[in-house]
Amino acid sequence: MQVPLSHFDLARLAEAFPEQPLLNWVRLAPIEAEDPDAVRLEQSWRQLCLRNRGPEEGCVFLKDNSCSVYPHRPSACRTWPLDLNAKGQLEVSPAHHLLYTTACDKTPFKETRPIKRALGENAEEFKAYRRLLKQWNALSNDKPEKQHFEAFWAFLKPFTRPQPELL
Ligand code: SF4
Repeated sequence: MQVPLSHFDLARLAEAFPEQPLLNWVRLAPIEAEDPDAVRLEQSWRQLCLRNRGPEEGCVFLKDNSCSVYPHRPSACRTWPLDLNAKGQLEVSPAHHLLYTTACDKTPFKETRPIKRALGENAEEFKAYRRLLKQWNALSNDKPEKQHFEAFWAFLKPFTRPQPELL
């Protein structure tokens, strides 16, 4: 599973691990230029995602079958595997259906309002992130010396406060 990250997710990880480089946890995955999450880095198109422990292994933060950064986990993790359908109803996202049906206990969700609210906040967070990506991609065009993660994070950082309240 690939967990996409926004600028707010980077800020949460930076807060959790102030002494460590974010690239310990962040993977710059190859992506098509047309994808809304594509960022121009290392003279290529990349998507910021959580690192996995290995090609066939789980997230770097998964320890003894639980999340070792639970209060700082990315926004996509907070509502997984749910999404809102066209009628505004909660459903298991089609992209996660197979994993959900094999891995989860399918306990019915008793309180849906906080999840719906969190999904709305996630969507706003990624909308804001994608606007920043457009700016960065325009700014760094033809400037290969700027196209590295540290410069990108320095560009994003001023836009990460205040962080939204999360589920
Ligand atoms: S919930 Fe925690 S362990 Fe699971 S993918 Fe998210 S950060 Fe990783």
